[in-house]
Amino acid sequence: MKNLLLVLSGPSGVGKGTIVEKLLKSGGYSLSVSCTTRAPREGEKQGVSYFFTDRQTFEKGIREGGFLEYSEHFGNLYGTPKAFVEEKLKTGDVILEIEVDGALQVKRAHPEALLIMIAPPNERELVSRLEKRGSESAEKIRERVKRMEYELSKKNEYDYTVINDDLDAAVEEIKCIIHNRKNA
Ligand code: 5GP
Repeated sequence: MKNLLLVLSGPSGVGKGTIVEKLLKSGGYSLSVSCTTRAPREGEKQGVSYFFTDRQTFEKGIREGGFLEYSEHFGNLYGTPKAFVEEKLKTGDVILEIEVDGALQVKRAHPEALLIMIAPPNERELVSRLEKRGSESAEKIRERVKRMEYELSKKNEYDYTVINDDLDAAVEEIKCIIHNRKNA
């Protein structure tokens, strides 16, 4: 059975990270580590959270065809290292947790990839959660809300949309989708 390239996307705050953690814990999957030009946040580790790099090195990687996909997001470049994913695919299913523009590039290059959009049960509630989050400026919040709307507007181009209403149910639904795809 061929190993699966699973692409998960969804707006910020929707709970993607927790879903990915649960999938990884259940075994059989590995997570792709992306490259980014964004600065590390507190607690993030080189080669674990991301491969943190500078723009010049990232752009060299683009020119050399080293990325499966890449995109610019809030002023930083993010990309999936091709060789890294190909290596991981030899041993099991690989999860990419990436935003929509990159996800759709993966679909074009690898139509067999399984794209799942994680959506909130209630968009309005997610907006108010984003609005309440931390000390971000009104402009930053507007940017995030616009981005959320953009991400969700692409859900029809995904193979499935899973609503993260109940975390365990969402994880089970994703596992079920994967199982069905692999046994089709
Ligand atoms: P953050 O900076 O909060 O870690 O991530 C910002 C966004 O970039 C998230 O939506 C995340 O899913 C996305 N992202 C992370 N890695 C990649 C990648 O390799 N490619 C693309 N296209 N997006 C990514």
